Amino acid sequence: DDIFSHIVQAPPDPIFGIANAYKADTSNTKIDLGVGAYRTDEEKPYVFEIIKKLEKEIVNDPTLNKEYLPIEGLADFNKGCQKLMFGQNSPLIASGQIVTAQCLGGTGALRVGFEFVKRHIPGDVYVSKPTWSNHNQVIERAGLNQFEYPYYEPKTKGFNCAGTIECLSQARMGSIVLLHVCAHNPTGVDPTEAEWLQIADVCKRRRLVPFFDCAYQGFASGCIEKDVFAVRKFAELGFQMIVAQSFSKNMGLYNERVGAVHIVTSNKDISARVLSNLKIVIRTICSNPPAIGARIAAKILTDEKYFNAWVEELKTVTGRIIKMRTLLKQELDNLKVPGNWDHITKQTGFFTFTGLTPEQCDLLTKQYHVYLLRSGRMSMAGITSKNVRYLAESIKAVVQ
Ligand code: PMP
Repeated sequence: DDIFSHIVQAPPDPIFGIANAYKADTSNTKIDLGVGAYRTDEEKPYVFEIIKKLEKEIVNDPTLNKEYLPIEGLADFNKGCQKLMFGQNSPLIASGQIVTAQCLGGTGALRVGFEFVKRHIPGDVYVSKPTWSNHNQVIERAGLNQFEYPYYEPKTKGFNCAGTIECLSQARMGSIVLLHVCAHNPTGVDPTEAEWLQIADVCKRRRLVPFFDCAYQGFASGCIEKDVFAVRKFAELGFQMIVAQSFSKNMGLYNERVGAVHIVTSNKDISARVLSNLKIVIRTICSNPPAIGARIAAKILTDEKYFNAWVEELKTVTGRIIKMRTLLKQELDNLKVPGNWDHITKQTGFFTFTGLTPEQCDLLTKQYHVYLLRSGRMSMAGITSKNVRYLAESIKAVVQ
């Protein structure tokens, strides 16, 4: 009659597990390339200046209180999210075709989105091979079947467009396709604009439902408008679709859990019915979302001067990551490390998919105190002008 004794140990989360191992390491040359969180060149977490300022204003605002937000979240935040994702003048916003709900970060948006899918448009889900490990778990827990489309081509270290199209053209009609909007995690490889059109074409032909995951808007090209090309193009092409949006990285609001889910329908009346059902999904998962992070984000998204300040600061953040790509590539070239490392500067976003084997990654961690995913994924935000040399030397040691 021991109630819990049958429960077997589950594996640690592949990403947060690495963060813990890094923390426990006492070496002073250790480098954390695990979790996708921004670090300054001093290896410190970073809070955006604009966030600090607005947070203070909000906390001290006597007109605000702690009453529950509506189930679908803060209205100003949701409106701001729509504009950032679909464009200031999106006709879909004007026509009431977009249903939006505030969620607990991007993960909350994915969870709510897939729960909605399971309840109302159940179908197989196609995910990129590889994808962020939590995608697979979230989809599984929503009770949906998943298949992989061959996204990454190890030979070219690039996007396997032909393979993706081929796979999706055999997907069952009405299936859901999970697509990374930009800065693909873990590969750092994104489709070109022309390739997105091919993906749109196969989705149209097979009546597939696009489910976009947007966790890194601003981190691919450095421009928040350009980075959401795929979503806006699909919207323009008339797709009904789902979008999960996260502000964890681009506003540095990680632990405030700020995100949104959008469902694009074909008209305003359907939107009203979709919203009523989306609210039931949310009510049973978390009832209603937290307010402070959303209030901060709403100020940024609805006030031009705050918006501009945010965009400028975001450019500094993404600029440092881009600089580290160039620097690491240079160091590897200087040290004449065997192999071709062009992909480090070709890939975009937070991550580089190094091509290092799991064994090489293990060696990097055990012998050189460099922490990264065993898939070879490296978070570029953990690299600094001070540790890049040591990192390149360590890579050299494990590849030769
Ligand atoms: N999707 C992808 C691809 C991600 O990499 C992340 C963050 N690691 C998320 C969604 C969600 O992040 P969060 O829940 O922290 O907003």
